[in-house]
Amino acid sequence: MRHGGGEIRGGYITGAVAAKILLRQGHACAICGAVLEEGQTHFDHIVPVICGGRHTSGNMHALCIHCHHRMMLLFRDWFARRKKA
Ligand SMILES: [Zn+2]
Repeated sequence: MRHGGGEIRGGYITGAVAAKILLRQGHACAICGAVLEEGQTHFDHIVPVICGGRHTSGNMHALCIHCHHRMMLLFRDWFARRKKA
């Protein structure tokens, strides 16, 4: 399947897309607003890929390590419960 003008390939974010997202967020974490330092920035999907989210900068946001970790735990928990149901 081919997507025209895809910004992100194979789930990996490019430097240009990362810069675009950081600029959009003013270099602040999307959840807690902490200043994102280089090397401490995690990029995450707003709508998870398994839920139909797309690999575009519009569906990505930058989080600090703490928020990303918390989101992963929340999501893992939610997904585990969803699978059982
Ligand atoms: Zn944060």
